[in-house]
Amino acid sequence: MPDVFADLVGQDEAVVVLRRAADSAAALLRASAAPVTRVAGPAAGAASGDSYDELDALAEEFDVEPAAGPTGVTAEPGGPAEAGGPGAGMTHAWIFTGPPGSGRSVAARAFAAALQCRHGTGCGECPGCHTTLAGTHADVRLVVPEGLSIGVGEMRALVLRAASTPSGGRWQVVIISDADRLTEAAGNALLKAIEEPPPRTVFLLCAPSTHPDDVSVTIRSRCRIVALRQPPAGAVADVLVRRDGIAPDVAEWAAAAAQGHVGRARRLARDPEARQRRDAVLAVPRRLTGVGAAFDAASALIEAAEAEAAASVAEIDEAERAALQTALGAGGTGRGAAGAMRGAAGQLKDLEKRQKSRATRAQRDALDRALVDLAGFYRDALASALRAPVAPVHSDTAAMAEAGARKWDADGALRRLEAVLECRAAIEANVKPRIAVEAMMLSLWKG
Ligand SMILES: [Zn+2]
Repeated sequence: MPDVFADLVGQDEAVVVLRRAADSAAALLRASAAPVTRVAGPAAGAASGDSYDELDALAEEFDVEPAAGPTGVTAEPGGPAEAGGPGAGMTHAWIFTGPPGSGRSVAARAFAAALQCRHGTGCGECPGCHTTLAGTHADVRLVVPEGLSIGVGEMRALVLRAASTPSGGRWQVVIISDADRLTEAAGNALLKAIEEPPPRTVFLLCAPSTHPDDVSVTIRSRCRIVALRQPPAGAVADVLVRRDGIAPDVAEWAAAAAQGHVGRARRLARDPEARQRRDAVLAVPRRLTGVGAAFDAASALIEAAEAEAAASVAEIDEAERAALQTALGAGGTGRGAAGAMRGAAGQLKDLEKRQKSRATRAQRDALDRALVDLAGFYRDALASALRAPVAPVHSDTAAMAEAGARKWDADGALRRLEAVLECRAAIEANVKPRIAVEAMMLSLWKG
């Protein structure tokens, strides 16, 4: 039976670090189990079920001194965590970095499962592992920003709840899946919690990099960093075959076309619509025959991203609206009705704001995927012009990329690749997508 780290594709070094940390965390629990039960008395023991009994037994078995200190885990040099004691290898704040699709949140969730695992290993079979991976563990909170940023209100509420005693007797784990989208105020609220961590709370942050644009220097200085790499296409293809039962030739093509993005590779292999959208994007280069065609191509790309985004959020938007209407309809009469109406209008406004923000994010993500595909095409053209001995990203448009290479030379291919990358950067820097894409299409046409 594969354990919780099995889906971390091509990340052997990170897995070694995380296994060691989970091991240390389990040792810490064993070390602190004895004093916790004795000091807290029978009430706490009853509340936490049999887990303390088990930990007690383990502590006796290993003859561990209850010397982990009041905080249990600490990253301070010279503290118990660094002294080779039961806490070595574990700390209360982590940052998982890596390119999109490398599995940052998969790694964070696997680590969370290992922390909640009854055996302390991430066995993949016990209730702690299962519920964490399924997203239903009471002591694991996953923050997925739906809009463009994570606000301070959301973060404060989260930090407050994270400070409570873990109901399962192990750890309170908070996973923040896009820590680079924290607002400054939210970052400060988080920093405060990381600086004075509750004894059993672990923060797992995911971000593209530890660049100050992504994670503030002060937060970074308090965290241990786990750097994931872009998984090789071969490893991605393997997992598609093994886990998703996809035919090897399709898996190989999808893994290369997705450029190391595991989730994207799976979608391409399974979803005909995703393949059609990619085909449409890769048809752009040969359609750029003039100024008018360049503007047409820009419109088509923007509209395709909007349609894809609208489809992806429609279902959840509708469900949220229905849920809110039901909740509001439940209390509409009586003396409190006027106040309730005012509250209702506010809630509706909040919901609309949230949904709009989520739609914008979905559009940007869809557009970015298209731009990454397009960049792959010009990268293939550049590789072909340079006769570089590397496999093409898009094997199905390799002939077209070669034709482009003959026409443009390496310089022209490089300029076009740069135009695509500049467009991505501009949109990330909040340039209006349509303007950035039109400028890019003109550069792709003129070269
Ligand atoms: Zn387990």
